[in-house]
Amino acid sequence: MDTPRQPPAFDRAEALARLGAEQFDVLVVGGGITGAGVALDAASRGLRTALVERDDFASGTSSKSSKLVHGGLRYLQQREVGLVYEGLAERQIALRNAPHLVRILPFLIPVLTKDGVISRRLARALGGALWMYDLTGGLRIGKRHKRVSSEQAVAHMQTLRADRVAGGYLYYDAHTDDARLTLTLCRTAAAHGAVVANYAGVTSLRKDGQGRLRGARVQADGDEVEVRADVVVNAAGVWTDDVRALDEPSHPQSIRPAKGIHITVPWTRVRNDIAVVVPVAKDRRSVFVVPWGDLTYVGTTDTDYDGSLDDPECTPDDVAYLLRALNAVITDPLREDDVLGTWAGLRPLLRTAANDRTADLSRRHAVRRSEGGLVTVTGGKLTTYRRMAADTVDEVDALLGKRRRCRTKRLKLIGAAGYDDPAETNEPSRHEHLAHRYGTEEAGVQALVDQEPALGEPLVPGLPYLKAEAVHAVRSEMARTLDDVLSRRTRARLLARDDSAAAAEDAAALVGRELGWDDAERARQVKEYRAAVAAERDAADLPETALRA
Ligand SMILES: Cc1cc2nc3c(=O)[nH]c(=O)nc-3n(C[C@H](O)[C@H](O)[C@H](O)COP(=O)(O)OP(=O)(O)OC[C@H]3O[C@@H](n4cnc5c(N)ncnc54)[C@H](O)[C@@H]3O)c2cc1C
Repeated sequence: MDTPRQPPAFDRAEALARLGAEQFDVLVVGGGITGAGVALDAASRGLRTALVERDDFASGTSSKSSKLVHGGLRYLQQREVGLVYEGLAERQIALRNAPHLVRILPFLIPVLTKDGVISRRLARALGGALWMYDLTGGLRIGKRHKRVSSEQAVAHMQTLRADRVAGGYLYYDAHTDDARLTLTLCRTAAAHGAVVANYAGVTSLRKDGQGRLRGARVQADGDEVEVRADVVVNAAGVWTDDVRALDEPSHPQSIRPAKGIHITVPWTRVRNDIAVVVPVAKDRRSVFVVPWGDLTYVGTTDTDYDGSLDDPECTPDDVAYLLRALNAVITDPLREDDVLGTWAGLRPLLRTAANDRTADLSRRHAVRRSEGGLVTVTGGKLTTYRRMAADTVDEVDALLGKRRRCRTKRLKLIGAAGYDDPAETNEPSRHEHLAHRYGTEEAGVQALVDQEPALGEPLVPGLPYLKAEAVHAVRSEMARTLDDVLSRRTRARLLARDDSAAAAEDAAALVGRELGWDDAERARQVKEYRAAVAAERDAADLPETALRA
């Protein structure tokens, strides 16, 4: 099945008008990766589909992940072979359907010595696990894992303490920009006819006399819209219980949120040309050290969480945990003033009877249907969104009394059809930067620069994003706020928090020009953005920083 080449208008005003006017087969609640995947699956099967997101697309967990599309080597240790198999199969599908956004990334697992001694048992176990990973589906990527010498390992991360590295293993997984993948799914769903709107939240569900769900009430821009739909899908991530509580007599408390944070540091302080898996002493876990342009990010933590679901914070202890893990293996330790960005997200894990630590809870997904007909999808991973969506829409079809084939296995996302990956260069070019973010839609961003050359300047000095990308974000990607542009359409806030705040006024002038903001609204957006950035920095007790040349 083909996605129309012509990008969808993706117009919010039109979407809001259609939400109130049309009858839908299915209304999806939540515009994270899960809801976006469900909307695409449903629309491409031919269902009349609507998706509403109460904040921005991917503003929940789906912009705050480790950004890996993977089977998850560590799940093999937990004997979750089925989950790894599914993840690796989905990784392959994602590489094919979104080659501009999902890209192969090599990983190094250094074999470290302890007090000068190599644990041969550990090295053997690692080798065995990687064979297993390859055989479970890793090999589909076209390369198998291999052993490397200590010199080769250190060449991949030049700051590694050579005295502690006895060798290493290389294997392959994939990387993505989670928020852009989610947005691209939403836009592809729209290209297949779905009505999609952000800043439109479900406040209550509509039921008929028999207690059967018939749609929902949606709040957008201060107005309430009655959306008529035969089935409602609850894809609200860590908030799924809140949506279920609109349908059921009590709050089900089925989700056990687990917080994970990441930090960003200058690449020059780590010098890794590929991702590196660093063990955390005394914690039976590892963290990933992932290069991202001129920056490197480190994560994640995995801790129980009982604070506000709307605002998970990265704390000083979280930062210390990651710095300690990294500093144990590098020559020149990093300090708090090297931390240029942080982000904290909540995993929507399913609560189990056993009180296991969150790191050991399963990442499997589940689809359930309530008596009233609310279909709820929970758990899962970014990587397995397509499978989760297929299972969910099968359930929707069952409710509608239809059986339609899932079409997403070979459905290219917007920007993918005809995409030609630019050759990697040492100095990434503008073409490479844009191609990896927009695929074949790169030409649309470049055309903005051609019309107005000033839009070719950086949006945030020191980061590769162009001013044209902010304009494109408003015109074609439904960005509504300064934070939408700096946190999710571009990832400036995650990469360099304080630099993005310093550029906020210039960015707001551009975004405001597109959205028709007056001076007061522009000032409010800048103030709100800077306050959020300052609060994020203060919660982690970090000093103000700036990108270094
Ligand atoms: C630290 C961390 C690292 C991770 N790393 C990886 C990784 O590397 N690879 C991987 O595969 N997975 C990873 N995951 C898991 C993955 O990120 C999540 O499984 C996934 O993003 C969850 O997406 P979701 O759409 O279910 O939830 P969300 O992204 O949270 O989306 C739910 C949406 O519902 C909206 N919503 C809530 N209530 C309403 C309402 N009433 N009306 C309208 N909208 C509503 C919310 O605003 C939100 O946007 C990671 C998770 C974390 C926390």
